[in-house]
Amino acid sequence: MLFEEVAECYAKLESVSSRLVMIEILSELLKKSSGSEIKKLVYMTQGVLLPPFEGIEFGVAERILEEAIGIATGYSKEDVEKSYKKYGDIGEAVFSFKKVAKLKKMANKRQSVSDVYDTMYKIASTSGAGSKNLKVRFLSEILASSSPLEAKYIARYPIGQLRLGVGDSTIIEALSLAFTGSRNEKETLESAYNLCSDLGVIAEELALNGMDKIRNFQVSLFKPIRPALAERLPTPEEIIKKMNGKCAVEQKYDGFRCQIHKKGGIVKIYSRNLEETTNMFPDIQKAALNIKPEMIILEGEALAFNESTGEFLPFQETIQRKRKHGIKEKVEEMPLHLFAFDLLYINGKSYIKEPYETRRADLEDAIKGSKSITPTNRIVTSDPKEFEEFFESSIENGLEGIVAKDLNAPYVAGARKFSWIKMKRSYKGILSDTVDLVIVGYFLGKGSRSEFGFGGLLCAVYNKKRDMFETISKIGTGFTEEHMGDFKALLDKIIVKHKPARVDSVLKPDFWVDPRYVIEVMADEITKSPTHTCGREKNELGIDEGYALRFPRIVGDGFIRKDKNPEDATSTEEIIEIFKQQKKVGIK
Ligand code: AMP
Repeated sequence: MLFEEVAECYAKLESVSSRLVMIEILSELLKKSSGSEIKKLVYMTQGVLLPPFEGIEFGVAERILEEAIGIATGYSKEDVEKSYKKYGDIGEAVFSFKKVAKLKKMANKRQSVSDVYDTMYKIASTSGAGSKNLKVRFLSEILASSSPLEAKYIARYPIGQLRLGVGDSTIIEALSLAFTGSRNEKETLESAYNLCSDLGVIAEELALNGMDKIRNFQVSLFKPIRPALAERLPTPEEIIKKMNGKCAVEQKYDGFRCQIHKKGGIVKIYSRNLEETTNMFPDIQKAALNIKPEMIILEGEALAFNESTGEFLPFQETIQRKRKHGIKEKVEEMPLHLFAFDLLYINGKSYIKEPYETRRADLEDAIKGSKSITPTNRIVTSDPKEFEEFFESSIENGLEGIVAKDLNAPYVAGARKFSWIKMKRSYKGILSDTVDLVIVGYFLGKGSRSEFGFGGLLCAVYNKKRDMFETISKIGTGFTEEHMGDFKALLDKIIVKHKPARVDSVLKPDFWVDPRYVIEVMADEITKSPTHTCGREKNELGIDEGYALRFPRIVGDGFIRKDKNPEDATSTEEIIEIFKQQKKVGIK
């Protein structure tokens, strides 16, 4: 397939504002690609070279790209910088240069999807001394032989700014439409995706072997499984009822979620958002090597814990592992402990569909004898009083709360279902737990803020069923001057010209941005509001009403939650659930 066709399709995707139309456009493209090429096409459309867990990055800084554009178009470095500033988009900048008549005369080489992808791969794989010059050379060569439209997307790709507005769900529906003639196989495709977190592999299997292969898709080692997530409910009574009268209640530990894959002498660890984090946890890696099964996938929470006194240490101790350096010293000073809570695979057998009790029993057996990997503390009960006591004692021990588990439920990969329900102290009152929101736009400042050109954010939750970001709040407080500047710089890079197709909003910010960054927000409560689209429905008076946050403020020190993708933000369903819980405790 020629890259020209891909660039034309991307331009169309960028210009439409209906998600369904986007799916149709993308499915036409996918249909035309050959089985062997589709994987590359899908990664490209996701804006990556490989899934994040493979850990390959483009390694192309903006300066490298600007230099390459200069060489490819004959413009000076200053011209490139000026144009980039003017458009706020490197793609538009190179497009405008290449459209100039004298450059148009240059013969474009007709390049294929593989030509572009393979060059990008080569650029990413170049490292060490002299790699910068090589990257510039490869990039400038490919830009020089592209048409203006091709160059636009080639330039945007390695700096993560494709701006197509396409999410994984959109690609999945487009795949379903392309290869089965309808969007109905979306869920089956999604389930398979949840088992391997690799959309390229799913597309390739589908194109080459059809839906049968997808229906029987199996987990495999070193492809992380999308993690199961927990719902929330406020009281033991409600949780026990929801779980048909009896459940397991596990302590909830606040550390790093680790999905451990082991095959013989190789152990890899993946984070909650499916990145490889093995280097952060040499102690856990070593402990996993020493457990009995040859091949295993298990999950747990790693945290600082004094194994001899049974004392949990503050989260500040655990978080030290986030640093790039000094891990070796930390391992000696404060080795981490893994509280294992799930088993997904042993020696060729998948445990995904097994009930919780079977997974738990075989997990305990698999890690027996290990000092640093032990099962989570838990009880199994049908008594709310016993439940409550266990919860209270967990809190007293410095833990966050509990996670209740449905004894008969399978492992629900990639979804928030009532087979896991968390209960933290804060749910028992008003909204004192935080929510994770996606930034979809920003407003210019008024008054003293106008000098920053930044006045606040428009934020949304994720509606999984609709695959849409629905707005829930405008956030204008909690920012320092420094943060305002940082936010503006970050968001300016992902401004899009019109409302992204997957954003549902009544409000119109001064700038729309690609829904990409997640922030943590605290609010006093959830209220109904006609200005937001989260969970929007007609009320008794026939007026459209959604949910909104009251007194929202941004929390957390880094502000952008790097461990969450936009689709991992708090969901519309969760907001509705929290609203219902609020009502129960008397907040209207
Ligand atoms: P939250 O991040 O508040 O949605 O809570 C879910 C997270 O709690 C999971 O992603 C795990 O990282 C963590 N966690 C701690 N203890 C457990 C447990 N016993 N079972 C499941 N998840 C747990």
